[in-house]
Amino acid sequence: MGWVHSRRDHGGVIFLDIRDRTGLVQVVGDPQRGGAAAHQAAEGVRAEYVVAAVGEVVHRGEGLGNPRIATGEIEIVAREITVLNTALHPPFEIDQEEINLEQRMRYRYIDLRRPVMQANLELRHKAAMAARQYLSSQDFLEIETPLLLKATPEGARDFLVPCRLVPGTYYVLPQSPQLMKQTLMAAGCDRYFQLARCLRDEDLRADRQPEHTQIDLEMSFVEQDDVLTTVEGLMQAVFAVAGIAVAAPFPRLSYGEAMERYGSDKPDTRFGMELIDLSATVASVEFRVFADALASGGQVKGLCVPAKGQLSRKDLDDLIAFSKQFGAKGMAWIAVDAEGLRSSILKFIPEDVQRALVAKMGAQPGDMLLFVADRPKVVADVLGRLRLRLGHQLGLVDKSRHNFLWVIDFPLFEKNAESGAIEPMHHPFSMPRAADIPLLESDPLAVTAQLYDLVVNGAELCSGSIRCHIPDLQLKILEVIGIDRAEALERFGFLLEVFSYGAPPHGGVGLGFDRIVAILSGQEASEVDIREVIAFPKTSTGRDLMLGCPSVIDPQQLKEVGILKTVDPAAE
Ligand code: ASP
Repeated sequence: MGWVHSRRDHGGVIFLDIRDRTGLVQVVGDPQRGGAAAHQAAEGVRAEYVVAAVGEVVHRGEGLGNPRIATGEIEIVAREITVLNTALHPPFEIDQEEINLEQRMRYRYIDLRRPVMQANLELRHKAAMAARQYLSSQDFLEIETPLLLKATPEGARDFLVPCRLVPGTYYVLPQSPQLMKQTLMAAGCDRYFQLARCLRDEDLRADRQPEHTQIDLEMSFVEQDDVLTTVEGLMQAVFAVAGIAVAAPFPRLSYGEAMERYGSDKPDTRFGMELIDLSATVASVEFRVFADALASGGQVKGLCVPAKGQLSRKDLDDLIAFSKQFGAKGMAWIAVDAEGLRSSILKFIPEDVQRALVAKMGAQPGDMLLFVADRPKVVADVLGRLRLRLGHQLGLVDKSRHNFLWVIDFPLFEKNAESGAIEPMHHPFSMPRAADIPLLESDPLAVTAQLYDLVVNGAELCSGSIRCHIPDLQLKILEVIGIDRAEALERFGFLLEVFSYGAPPHGGVGLGFDRIVAILSGQEASEVDIREVIAFPKTSTGRDLMLGCPSVIDPQQLKEVGILKTVDPAAE
């Protein structure tokens, strides 16, 4: 039984390819071999009809097989073909190469019939099972937490759910089960996990959906190392599903070092071309661009690009425009030719400094040296992006590798560039390093947290931390981000209460499951499109084109939940 994938009439004999989840099989309607009835029925079927065929499985004969399909050696000579359901002509062919994305989303149930999509769903299932098995083997319990919650703290906007029983009040959908899993630790559950749906009302990107799935886990009586080791084992188990061997332990890099060397807190370590600090080398140079940056507390850093003489003036102009787009005032370059150096900035740089730059950057003929001078944050960001862009453009990235690494020792807080406010780098429930606790009052931005990210090939797979389980310390952390005692009690009072009845030290992570499956399916980690591994995703504008939602709700229904006034989306 299955769907009619294709139908070929070879003058008197009809060949049907019938498809189900497992693949294709050829069914033959041949009046000579199987009888007139089956042949006649085969004549009437069309693409995507649902049929049942009964007949004899026979070898196709020497040299007649189809090596492109797994069942290519055999066929079914039908005695009987029953149409279980007819089908409208499908909006696209199941094996069509290019299908318009909107059409795929609009007719997702047909899109999902495509073998690649079936394979992705199967892979997702296997990855979920591997995660469950591994975590169960480590004594974790899978525990469901509510979808109807009080506001959660991951820093995104909440989805609201009006409450009919008490009009004017709302639940929110969880941005993650963060507070509930911490509560489970206080409740003595010791080790929890969940394949948890997380809902965040954010602007969307290819690797973001309003709802995504995390492998969410939390452990009691642990230190950072215990969590990292557990996640390493989990990644080995999950990646094995796609036959990818993962070596553990994963390298660890502090946040500071990652920013210094790669200009990113999620470095792609599949290639080198690290950022080189040249501030000392050019300290004496009068070239305004460098001197001004250094004088105002900035840095001069560079990349030695193994360009093999391939970067044209046009390429360089593009790179300069790209750098400006990300906040740099400019980008200087020096080409290293066989005959010597070439650049319009050489006249500002004494020869001994030129030599020192070449030596410090390990430059060889054919290389292109790029420089950015600015505040450290801008330098890191721009050079980090240039490094990635050129790494891909010049084919330096070994795509067969899966380079896992931990980025640890994140700051607990960061300064919001626009508002200047101090905000949690991740969420406000992380434990500061013991030695840094006194800094909470004197210099909060210098506080390092027991906060870690897992990175693979330049993409963040998870964030997690050892949590603050001491109510007074938690209050102090909330105070730093401008949440005073009264507001803390209002918003997180229950967690503070939970902690005051004896909470164990605990920590955990939330791993982006959709992204993991996308990588397992062979997508490039840094540019995944998680819609390919989610059965019913939303479009980039948050719509479900198949269901036609979000949609307008009947005024009566709104009134029932206490919403009396609403906007007309057509007028928006
Ligand atoms: N709840 C966190 C998040 O979604 C993950 C964690 O800290 O466990 O980012």
